[in-house]
Amino acid sequence: MLFQKKSYDYKELAKKWVIITPQASPSNEFYKKSLNFIVEALKASGGCLLLKDFEKETFSVKCCLDGRHFSFQNENCLNLIQWFKKNKRALSRQQILEDPKHFPIKIQWLNFFLQFHAEVCAPLWYQEDLIGFVVLSLRRNGRPYTEACLEVLDWLSSQISPFLQNSLLHEKIRTQKAELEAMGDLKSQIIANLSHELRTPLTSILGFAELLSEEIDGSLNEEQKRHLSQVIEGGGRLLKTLSALVDMAKLEAGQYPLNISQFHLLPLVEGLTEGIPFNGATVLHVALDNQTPFVYGDLQLVRQIFVNLLDNAAKYTHQGSVEISASKKGEMLEICIADTGIGIAEEKLTDIFQGFYQVNGGLTREFQGTGVGLNLAKKLVEIHGGRLWVRSKPGLGSHFYFTLPLKPVVIKHRELAA
Ligand code: ADP
Repeated sequence: MLFQKKSYDYKELAKKWVIITPQASPSNEFYKKSLNFIVEALKASGGCLLLKDFEKETFSVKCCLDGRHFSFQNENCLNLIQWFKKNKRALSRQQILEDPKHFPIKIQWLNFFLQFHAEVCAPLWYQEDLIGFVVLSLRRNGRPYTEACLEVLDWLSSQISPFLQNSLLHEKIRTQKAELEAMGDLKSQIIANLSHELRTPLTSILGFAELLSEEIDGSLNEEQKRHLSQVIEGGGRLLKTLSALVDMAKLEAGQYPLNISQFHLLPLVEGLTEGIPFNGATVLHVALDNQTPFVYGDLQLVRQIFVNLLDNAAKYTHQGSVEISASKKGEMLEICIADTGIGIAEEKLTDIFQGFYQVNGGLTREFQGTGVGLNLAKKLVEIHGGRLWVRSKPGLGSHFYFTLPLKPVVIKHRELAA
């Protein structure tokens, strides 16, 4: 019978293992349960589980049933690892002592066994990868490990290996996620600090430049006026960018308190279109009226969403039209800012929302900008419980859509969830 091998009831062991596997999660508890299962099956007095460290050819002790925590030097057992890689089976201390083939490197191997108070050691394989070892101490009944014991140990190791590999992968993903989050937090913190430090002196540079341009400290000739207006224009642009960076960092850090009210979009749009640099050849059409429903949101932040999208529509439309329209879609108002500008290639339609991305980036770029406007607008829409997306065709123009809530409940849910 396939499952009935010598003195071990493989079928019974398989049943016991099935009970443990649902608990297979990347936890020390699971490592302990797996090791305990093997120790009990072979009636060993103790044991250790060593697993591979990711991206390194080293192994560390994951769990030790007798409570000792070993740190273990890989270099001391490279030969042994080679032997396991070649032979793919368990090895006992007795075999090392008795088999003349092992004599040349006996001392090194015995040292490894000594470190772990080990009588036997079995490799753990996942496909062609050596992912670890199980080592077992003396048997509780004092008897030696027989061939049958080594066979069942190899069989048990092959059963638990895929689960251990899975646990290792989970652990790796968890560590990488934590590292990425830490890096993201650090990036946001650096951007916030740096932008804040730059914004303060920039504000006073702009203040003094405006004071000079008002000729309070004396009159200016035409050339001086032209230079000053360039300083003010460039400074203003820089200030806008820095503010966007600070906002982005705050949003990423989840530090953006919302000041929610109900308002109509028409006065908001009318109030800001003057500041949008449309060139003379582009016509703006606002298709909002009294029928357009009121929305809920943070007025300043919604204004920022419009500014970012309209700035882009103006910038990327040499001539033609830009239209703002809105229609009710369930519990949301869907707003569309449509331009007849240069459009965006299909393969770039997701990238443009990533932040610091420009379709025509690089030193030779035609359009000024930092590539943060859309990313910020998207985040601002999302903290209102809405969505921002685009449809575009190169040469024909772009339609940017976003939704805002018609009921405060959408935003409240988000705040509660945060
Ligand atoms: P930028 O400061 O570069 O405008 P954004 O984040 O606002 O940064 O936009 C990212 C990129 O998306 C832009 O560099 C541009 O290539 C593209 N883009 C955004 N809006 C439009 C638009 N209305 N028409 C064409 N391309 C656009």
